[in-house]
Amino acid sequence: MINKKMEQLGKVRSVIRELFEYGKKRKAEIGEDKVFDFSLGNPSVPAPDCVNEAIRAFTEEMSSLRLHGYSSAQGDAGVRQAIAEYLNKKHGTAFTADSLYMTVGAAASLTICLNALVCEGDEVIAFAPFFPEYRVFSESAGARFVALAPTADFQIDKAALSAAVNEHTKAVIVNSPNNPSGVVLTEDSIKNLCAVLKEKSELYGHPIYLITDEPYRELVYDGVTVPFLTNYYDNTLVCYSFSKSLSIPGERIGYIAVSPTMEDERDVYAAVCGAGRALGYVCAPSMFQFVAAKCLGATADVSVYKHNRDLLYGALCDYGYQCVKPDGAFYLFLKTPEADANAFCERAKGKELLLVAADSFGCPGYVRISYCVSTEQIENSLPAFKALAEEYGINK
Ligand code: PLP
Repeated sequence: MINKKMEQLGKVRSVIRELFEYGKKRKAEIGEDKVFDFSLGNPSVPAPDCVNEAIRAFTEEMSSLRLHGYSSAQGDAGVRQAIAEYLNKKHGTAFTADSLYMTVGAAASLTICLNALVCEGDEVIAFAPFFPEYRVFSESAGARFVALAPTADFQIDKAALSAAVNEHTKAVIVNSPNNPSGVVLTEDSIKNLCAVLKEKSELYGHPIYLITDEPYRELVYDGVTVPFLTNYYDNTLVCYSFSKSLSIPGERIGYIAVSPTMEDERDVYAAVCGAGRALGYVCAPSMFQFVAAKCLGATADVSVYKHNRDLLYGALCDYGYQCVKPDGAFYLFLKTPEADANAFCERAKGKELLLVAADSFGCPGYVRISYCVSTEQIENSLPAFKALAEEYGINK
C-alpha cells in the first residue's frame, strides 16, 4: 500500500499544467504562432545582465569546491549577511544573517514555514484568489486549509477574517502582488489584517503567524508600493524568491526571513531549520546563493511587463470585458461573461486562446491571463479576444 494522498497529487495535474501540455500539443499541430498560450507564470523577460556576469565571475574566480559544494544548511553566512543588510537598508528593519534561511524558491519557503509552524489540529487561512499550491502545502503539513471568499476589490475583509480566526488558527498566508489577480494589498488592508491577528493572538493566548509570500515584490507598476510586513506585524515570516524578480525560476533560489521582532524568534528560526532538514532540502544551490546576493536590488526589465499589461488591459476593456487592473505581478484577472469560467475557457480554446479558469484559485467566475509572454503574442491574440467578446455580445 502506498500513500494514496501522494498518488492522487501525482496523478491529478494542476489545471495550469494541464492547459500548458494541451498548448504544446496544439502548437505542434497548427504552429507555434497560431496558439495564444496565456497559461504559465514563466517569466518572458531575460534575466538582468548581472546574473550571467556573476555566474561568469564566480566560475572563474571562486574555488570550484566552494562554489559547487554544500553550504551550511541555512545558507552561506556571507550571503545571508548581504541579504539582511539589503533588507535593513531598504525597509528599516533589523534582520541579521541568523534571521535568514536560504531555500529553493518560494514554494520551498512556504512548505518549510508551514511545516515549522503547524501542529495537529491547526488551521491555515488564505484569501481567495490564492495560489492553488497553498492548499496542497498546508494540507501536507497537516493543517486544515481555510479559504476566505474574495471581496469585490480583492482586498481584505476585516469582519470576515475576524469571524474565520479561531483558537485553531496557526497562520494566515497573504500574497501581494497577487497571483492570479495582480492586486497589491493596500496599507489599510494590511493594518486591518494585523489588527485582527493581534487581537486574536491575545484572545487565544498564542501567536497567530503571518506568512507573506512575495515572489512578485519588485514587479509593480506606476510607482505602487508594497508594504513590508515585518514593519506592521512582529510574528511575520517572509517567503521570498528570486524566480520572478531575476527571471531565474529554474535555478530555484529564495529565502525565508524570520522577523527579528517575533516573540519566540529563536525557536521559530530553529523550527524553520528543522523543517528544512526534515523535508530533506540539505541546502539551497550554492552557486545561486552567491549569484542572488550579488544581484540584490536588480530586476529583469519590468517595463516590458508594464507595456504588456497596458496593451492587454486597454484592449480587453475596449472589447467590453470586465478586468481587474493589475498593479503588479504579470497576471490579468478577467470576469467571465458567463458564470461558468470553465465553459468560457472552452470557448476561448476554440479561438486558440489558452486561459486558466480561476476555480482552483478559489475564485469561480474569473480567468487568469498570464501576460508574461511576448508582446507580439498579445498583439496577435487581440482579434481572437475581440471575436470572443462579440460572440458573448459584450462589445460596446
Ligand atoms: N507563490 C506564488 C504566489 C507563485 O505565483 C509562485 C510561482 O509561480 C510560487 C509561490 C512559487 O515560486 P518559486 O518558483 O519561487 O518556488
